[in-house]
Amino acid sequence: MGHIESTSAKGVPCACGRSGHLESVASGTSIGRMFEERYGRVDESRPTVGRDVNDLCRPGDERAISVIHEAGFALGASLGSLANILDPEVIVLSGGVIHQGPDWRSETWKTSVAEGYASQALDPLLDTPILIGELEGAAPLIGAAEHLLASL
Ligand SMILES: [Zn+2]
Repeated sequence: MGHIESTSAKGVPCACGRSGHLESVASGTSIGRMFEERYGRVDESRPTVGRDVNDLCRPGDERAISVIHEAGFALGASLGSLANILDPEVIVLSGGVIHQGPDWRSETWKTSVAEGYASQALDPLLDTPILIGELEGAAPLIGAAEHLLASL
């Protein structure tokens, strides 16, 4: 869902060549870029990535918490908008970014995503669980295979 429109990403170039997509503000690469643009590199020897920013949250770095909150809120708001259309029983976050980037189980992330979700989801959907998938980076391929097998 990274390439859906996000009001938080308005005018921000996306890796796909368009602009304004959620991925522009909520991917690990984007989180690192946003931190660098505002505060400089975490480690001068290499580009900042989402995990670097995430690691700064634990000791309470307000700069990092601010960037993570912005990204998490944007993700949550997009999830809320999608939930209004799809009415899911549960939302499962998975894929490479979820499992290899920032710690999506951290309180900073959970709070930010929940706040963004609540800002957009309609009242009957506010209790929809948002979970972290167990299949890690293989989830999209496993899902595609399951879909194929179900259609045979
Ligand atoms: Zn895109």
